[in-house]
Amino acid sequence: MRTTAELQAWSDSCRKQDRSIAMVPTMGALHEGHLSLVDAAKAKADAIVVSIFVNPTQFGPGEDFDAYPRTEASDLAKLEGHGVEVVFAPNAAQMYPDGFATSISVGGPSMGLETDFRPHFFAGVATVVAKLLLAARPHYAFFGEKDYQQLLVVRRMTRDLNIGTEIVGNPTVREADGLALSSRNAYLDADARQKAARLPAVLKHVIVSLEAGAPTETALADGRAALERNGFDVDYLSLCDAETLGAPIPGHSRRLLVAARLGSTRLIDNMPVAAGA
Ligand code: AMP
Repeated sequence: MRTTAELQAWSDSCRKQDRSIAMVPTMGALHEGHLSLVDAAKAKADAIVVSIFVNPTQFGPGEDFDAYPRTEASDLAKLEGHGVEVVFAPNAAQMYPDGFATSISVGGPSMGLETDFRPHFFAGVATVVAKLLLAARPHYAFFGEKDYQQLLVVRRMTRDLNIGTEIVGNPTVREADGLALSSRNAYLDADARQKAARLPAVLKHVIVSLEAGAPTETALADGRAALERNGFDVDYLSLCDAETLGAPIPGHSRRLLVAARLGSTRLIDNMPVAAGA
């Protein structure tokens, strides 16, 4: 399906037949992380739609929009293998016709972290996700915890705008050595790929220290130094409240989030941390 009109008509017909709808928005180059969202969506709803759209407005100048992997034929084969009924793969003109002039700005969880380094990012994500949800009108939409800040921003936006879709978060799928699956891992050469596994290993190490009661500043500084020793340029390594991404609150669950670059490849990851005293 290439047009919003087709997607809307499909959604209307599902709703007339009382079929529940789940949507899985993606940028394609599908891997097992995406497919885990598809499987979770299938377990929850009667009709599934996966969108594939490399959204230009969430890339900044000098970022990897042109280089981003585009593998539509193999994506479609994977989705067929997972029993997906409908794939929505629009082009940019379909999503942003001439004269398009709207942008959704989300506060709250979008403050800090990614926004400090990619200030354009969440407006691009919120606007495209709102368009997708308003066209498909799904009962549920599935997002990965891999992009934890994005998950919270999308959830905030759908609640604030009464979009009527429940945003479901799904755990991060990882390689055997712990590296979170990502379409961008394709950019890593063999040496960088080996080093990349240090990222989740350092997160785990920092979490062990934090949960053993080490002062936050010390645990984070040690983690940052360990990443730098392994060749990473660290954008941020932050401990946040798991629900708001504000400062940790005693007795509330926390989240450790990282963005770090290996050469020109930027990796992000995050893990849960037990509530602190
Ligand atoms: P993307 O195509 O990178 O925009 O990702 C589409 C969706 O898949 C987002 O909700 C991501 O959070 C999710 N996702 C990406 N990688 C993973 C992973 N390793 N595990 C679980 N979900 C993921």
